[in-house]
Amino acid sequence: MSEKNPRYITTTLPYVNSDPHIGFAYEIVAADALTRYWRLTGHEVFFNTGTDEHGQKIAQKADEKGESRQTYVDYYANEFKKLADKEAGLNLSYSEGGNFIRTTNEAHKAAAQEIWRRSLAKGDIYKKKYSGLYCVGCELFYKEDELDENKCCTIHGKPTEEVEEENYFFKLSNYQTYLEEYLSQEGVIEPEWRRQEAINFVKQGLEDFSISREKARLDWGVPVPDDEDQVMYVWFDALTNYISTLGWPEEGGNFKKFWQDGEVVQLAGKDQVRFQSVMWQAMLKSAGVKATDKVVYHGFINSGGQKMSKSLGNVISPYELITRYGTDATRYLLLRHVHPFDDSDVTWEKLDEWYTAGLVNGLGNLVSRVMKMAETHLDGQVQINEQAVFGVGYNESLRLFNPQSAIDIIWKEIQALDEMITETEPFKLIKTDRDAALKILTNLKEGLYHIGRLLRPIMPTTASAILVAIKANKKPDNLFPRLEK
Ligand SMILES: [Zn+2]
Repeated sequence: MSEKNPRYITTTLPYVNSDPHIGFAYEIVAADALTRYWRLTGHEVFFNTGTDEHGQKIAQKADEKGESRQTYVDYYANEFKKLADKEAGLNLSYSEGGNFIRTTNEAHKAAAQEIWRRSLAKGDIYKKKYSGLYCVGCELFYKEDELDENKCCTIHGKPTEEVEEENYFFKLSNYQTYLEEYLSQEGVIEPEWRRQEAINFVKQGLEDFSISREKARLDWGVPVPDDEDQVMYVWFDALTNYISTLGWPEEGGNFKKFWQDGEVVQLAGKDQVRFQSVMWQAMLKSAGVKATDKVVYHGFINSGGQKMSKSLGNVISPYELITRYGTDATRYLLLRHVHPFDDSDVTWEKLDEWYTAGLVNGLGNLVSRVMKMAETHLDGQVQINEQAVFGVGYNESLRLFNPQSAIDIIWKEIQALDEMITETEPFKLIKTDRDAALKILTNLKEGLYHIGRLLRPIMPTTASAILVAIKANKKPDNLFPRLEK
C-alpha cells in the first residue's frame, strides 16, 4: 500500500438480531489496532463500522416482542455502539475519524436507492418471475438438494414454504470478465489463498442474484425506486453502507478523500468472499465507483473444537470478556490468540491461562519490577528518544494485517528484558557496583519505553500508563490483577 495516502478501513456490518459475539469483536478490534497504527505512522484514517438493521427476521422479532421495529433496532444498534466505550467496551477509535453507520439512516437509504438507479440505468437490473422453497429464518430461497428430506432448512430445521414471486435481479453474469480481471491482481484479497478461492468461485460461472422481495414478504427495508410493491433484499441496502458512510453519492468530501483517492481496506469473515469480493465489486463497477483496494478475510472462532452456538451454550460475548479481564486485556487476548486468517479455538480455561501468562506474569510483572527499581534507585529522567521507530518486523507484521505476529515481537522484547534482569541482578549489583547497576536500570527503562510505544495500537490505555510511569519515574498501580479462582 502507498505510504502517504489517506486510508479507509471498514468492518462488515453485523445484523442486529442478536448481541455482539466474539468473532465480530475480533474483527472490530483488528480494525481499530490497524487504524491506530496507521494514525501513529502519519496517515489520516476513516474507520467505519455500524449495524445492518433491515430484513424480515428483524421485523418478526420486533413484532413478537410487541415493539416497534425502530425501537427494536435502536436497542441493538446501541449494544454494538457501546463496544466503542473506553472502559465498558473495547475502546474503539472511530469517533476520532470515522463513523458508525446504521442502515436505517435516511441518507444511507437514499444512497442505496441511488446505487440501484445507476445499476438499473446501466442495464444490470431486471425483473423475473421466480419460484422456490423459502426459509423465513434465513430469508433465502433454497434449491431442493440444499434442504433435508422433509424440505426443512438445515440451519433452522423448520419447513420451507413454496413461494412464487416476481423479483428484481442483478446481472452478475455481466461481470464475469471484469471480476476475473479484478481478482487477477495480487493484493486485492488477503490472505493470498483466499484470492485463489475467489478466482475459483468466479471461474465456475456467475449466477445473477435476486435483490428485492415483494413488499408482502418483506416490509422492513429500503423501498425499490419507482416500484412501490418491491423492497430491497439485503445487497443493495447492506453493502452500500461502505460508501454511504462517506457521504456518497456526494462525490466530494470524505468520499473523494478516502475512497476515491485513498487506500480502501475492508475486513470480513471467511464466509464473506463471494459477497465482498465478488457481488459488491460488481455492484461498484456497475455504479461507476472505484473498486475496493483490498479485502482481508479472517477465520472463525470456535470453542472447545465446536462452533459457538446458543444451543450448545458455548457462546462467548465480548462483554463477558471485558467484565472478566478488562478492556485492554480483552484486546490483547483477541489480537494475540486469534489467528488473523485461520480458525482459532478459544475456551474460558485457555483465556485464563493466556491472561495470567502473558499479562500478569509477563507484561504486568516486568513493568512493576523495572519501575519499582527505577523509582527506588534512579532519580531524574531517563533520556528518551521520542523519534524511535517501531522496527522492521513489527511494521511488516501490521502491513500484512497480522497483529498476532506484531504482538509476538513485543513479547519477545518483554522476555529479553526479563532475561536481562535475571542475568544481571541489578537489585543485588546496586550494593556492590552502583554505577553499573544504574546503567542496567536505565537500559531496562528505555527498553520498557520502547515496549510501551509498540503497545499503543494494541493496548492503548496500558501503553499510556507505561509511558506516563516512565516519564514520572514512578511504579504504576498493578496493571493486571490476578484472576479470582
Ligand atoms: Zn433457515
